[in-house]
Amino acid sequence: MTADGNITEEQIRAMRTRLSGIRENIERACTAAGRQPQDITLMAVTKTVDPVLINAAVEEGVNVLGENRVQEFLSKRSLYRPEAEVQFIGHLQTNKVKQIIDKVTLIHSADSLHLAQAIDRAADAAGLVMPVLLEVNIGGESSKSGVSPDMLPALLRDAAKLSHIRVDGLMTIPPPTSDETEQNRVFSRMRKLFEELRGQTPMHILSMGMSGDYEAAIRNGSTLVRIGSALFGARVYPQKAV
Ligand SMILES: *Cc1c(COP(=O)(O)O)cnc(C)c1O
Repeated sequence: MTADGNITEEQIRAMRTRLSGIRENIERACTAAGRQPQDITLMAVTKTVDPVLINAAVEEGVNVLGENRVQEFLSKRSLYRPEAEVQFIGHLQTNKVKQIIDKVTLIHSADSLHLAQAIDRAADAAGLVMPVLLEVNIGGESSKSGVSPDMLPALLRDAAKLSHIRVDGLMTIPPPTSDETEQNRVFSRMRKLFEELRGQTPMHILSMGMSGDYEAAIRNGSTLVRIGSALFGARVYPQKAV
């Protein structure tokens, strides 16, 4: 069942304990913001995580999984419980779109017209309409993918014309910081963009918040938080052979 047989009962229990803590934190953030916990989707981010541990989270009701890497996803997907719903959150190369188009329910990382067109073509060929989010580089970091806030309205307008994608919302990965004032500043800016552009295109998903900042994200209107390490523990990347 497991890729390497390494997951112990103890690790599964530890994951469940962390999950209870996350759910309590989500509830607290919702209460503070006058929101309902059922309006927030908790996504489990699966990169580097063993499918046995992922499935244990799915059994606890965390059935939306976030995948970053096409190859890793394709090698693990047959092991996932059938009720798991997979969304793609990583940087996506146009030549890989075809490999995932009929295997995911939402692509969070559309950040250029070029990529939106590639998704549109692949969806057309697969006979479906793919929901996407536009990824916004809210921190303006040159190292990060995402469309700049300035260019976002034009991208949204052009993407909305494509008939085999549907823009359901926005996603962002802000610069990591533990400073809550800074978290609030960035997330409230995202929420403002989201609210403004909803006049132009109906959108209902605001994907923001990760392990270190999901409470601030929820207080600022996030509808989907993407949680990896706070749920599964610190990621262990495979060692390269020396
Ligand atoms: C890895 C990743 C996450 C989760 O990160 P954590 O800090 O471990 O919660 C969320 N979103 C994206 C796009 C990621 O790549």
